[in-house]
Amino acid sequence: GIPGVPLPPLAERRASRRIQVGPVAVGGGAPVSVQSMTTTRTSDVGATLQQIAELTASGCQIVRVACPTQDDADALATIARKSQIPVIADIHFQPKYVFAAIEAGCAAVRVNPGNIKQFDDKVKEIAKAAKDHGTPIRIGVNAGSLDRRLLEKYGRATPEALVESALWEASLFEEHGFRDIKISVKHNDPVVMVEAYRRLAARCDYPLHLGVTEAGPAFQGTVKSAVAFGALLSQGIGDTIRVSLSAPPVEEVKVGIQILESLNLRQRRLEIVSCPSCGRAQVDVYKLAEEVTAGLEGMEVPLRVAVMGCVVNGPGEAREADLGVASGNGKGQIFVKGEVIKTVPESKIVETLIEEAMKIAAQMEKDGIAS
Ligand code: SF4
Repeated sequence: GIPGVPLPPLAERRASRRIQVGPVAVGGGAPVSVQSMTTTRTSDVGATLQQIAELTASGCQIVRVACPTQDDADALATIARKSQIPVIADIHFQPKYVFAAIEAGCAAVRVNPGNIKQFDDKVKEIAKAAKDHGTPIRIGVNAGSLDRRLLEKYGRATPEALVESALWEASLFEEHGFRDIKISVKHNDPVVMVEAYRRLAARCDYPLHLGVTEAGPAFQGTVKSAVAFGALLSQGIGDTIRVSLSAPPVEEVKVGIQILESLNLRQRRLEIVSCPSCGRAQVDVYKLAEEVTAGLEGMEVPLRVAVMGCVVNGPGEAREADLGVASGNGKGQIFVKGEVIKTVPESKIVETLIEEAMKIAAQMEKDGIAS
């Protein structure tokens, strides 16, 4: 391929209406955005803003904060004003916090219909307040807190139960002319989740927020989310994503970005392509790949660097890379676009790669390929 120009994604995006979460467009062909959620007490404004700053630095585009108490609601205005990325208030149970969040200037509010008692009577007022402030609403249906009525009807949180809950809530808002909505139908089982989103995608044009809920610790959650989001995004379904991990939220953002890059839904940045190593390897490939990754960290250009364990297949396997190394006999063949440009001792491989990477990066920046 041409360096810096990824192949197109696997499918055309599903046509969805566009909503505006602060400055971030969601749906209607806007790039798929990555979001996360803070783990601090929202009422602790300093700690929450600190975590939001870390999330922003890691590439998070939208952040959600929980709002379970009045103290949290009171903190929203300051957090919304000082955050560099749009803040969504996550409300369960109490409609009064929905109004507080809208008043506080949050970029959007997430409501969990199954959890908001007397929600139905309040929809008219919520729709009016949200419309007056231009605040979109996410209808966030969650398997764990599905409406009792639907649980009884379906016996458990089936894909159809999740979809029916979401569309029913949306219809309550629609009755009041409010369509500034995005929807999520989360489940901890990727298969149920994928099926729910597929059905939902076919039955409405609202932008969809993808999530596997309670996905688990980092490894399991990463795999579950990658599989589920991959299945949906590869069919063009999904407008914004949140990876849920029992791990620091910055990790969620990294995984989310990597998923989008893997699907060509976002321009790839630095990519290290290292061989899995095999009996022919004459160097510790894992260690070398780690050193090269560390050495090139922070590079903003979409550079593809190959780290190959031997000279037999190395250059051939890495012809698609911008830059690479194939090791053997205590030396490293450094190649650019599949051509060996020099051979250096093993101890000089990392620094030579960094030097060459800088040169290519400078050229890419000149050619306007940098992300
Ligand atoms: Fe094995 Fe060489 Fe291929 Fe690496 S590049 S997997 S060491 S043959």
